[in-house]
Amino acid sequence: MIIIQNLVPGSKYSIKCPHSMTPQFVVIHNTANDASAEAEISYMIRNDNEVSFHYAVDDREVVQGIPENRNGWHAGDGGNGRGNRYGIAIEICYSKSGGPRFDQAEKNAAELTADILRRYGWGIEKVTKHQDYSGKYCPHRTLDLGWQRYLDMVSAALGAGSAAPDTSAPSTAVYKVGDMVIVTGYPCATAAGEKPGARLAAYRGKITRVHGSGTHRYHVDAKGWCRAADLQPAGSTAAPVALKAGDRVRVKQTATTYATGQTIPAWVKGRTDTVLQAKEDRLLLRDIYSWVKRADVERL
Ligand SMILES: [Zn+2]
Repeated sequence: MIIIQNLVPGSKYSIKCPHSMTPQFVVIHNTANDASAEAEISYMIRNDNEVSFHYAVDDREVVQGIPENRNGWHAGDGGNGRGNRYGIAIEICYSKSGGPRFDQAEKNAAELTADILRRYGWGIEKVTKHQDYSGKYCPHRTLDLGWQRYLDMVSAALGAGSAAPDTSAPSTAVYKVGDMVIVTGYPCATAAGEKPGARLAAYRGKITRVHGSGTHRYHVDAKGWCRAADLQPAGSTAAPVALKAGDRVRVKQTATTYATGQTIPAWVKGRTDTVLQAKEDRLLLRDIYSWVKRADVERL
């Protein structure tokens, strides 16, 4: 699972997240539609309704739309309501139709929830639901399937520690300065009281270099601290991470020609795009609709 940040622009703070916030708990929602997390957040940002939430989670990824230190409008308990003013809102996608992609979205949401609890040092009692604030039957499908079941999923994810879902990730790995690592899971930057992750979020899934080490922590590419469990050895060859359809990538500024040989125009360089089709050495990107060499993109 990956987290993508698509944060609401400052120009829309007055509508979407007018108040600064010290979060006190998580509020779980179901979207009651069949849109992806990416679509859910883009729609939230695009419209001018006083409706907003911090995260949308689907079966493939987590998309963050509001920083955790701003409030959202999601709990239906008014301008000074506890839910709206102190809750980190998570929308679980595909709840209208349910099925395997909803089940996976719920699992991903449980992992995200566990990660938030871990970052703030909270217990399971900090996991609340929309229904607690306004009586609305939300998260509807999660409630149908069993609220305690969702809490158990979060507890299980918490119990699993900070390890990435990939169980092949060695939790006791020791790295030294100069080692190449892949940032997995949820990077954390809690050393010296720093807030976790915005700068490091961009490093998820990428190969980067260890610049320093502390107790169970590694300073990565001069950007911040990662827990050992959030890193995997990249090996000495620094082989690129495999990409698949749906992954978000950026075309490197150094790219010169497409996989098909034509010159890459300037407007394509530095652009972010989504992988439509992936082959070992090349990727078809959705927006520019061209095949780009694997070595010419970096994963976001
Ligand atoms: Zn809700």
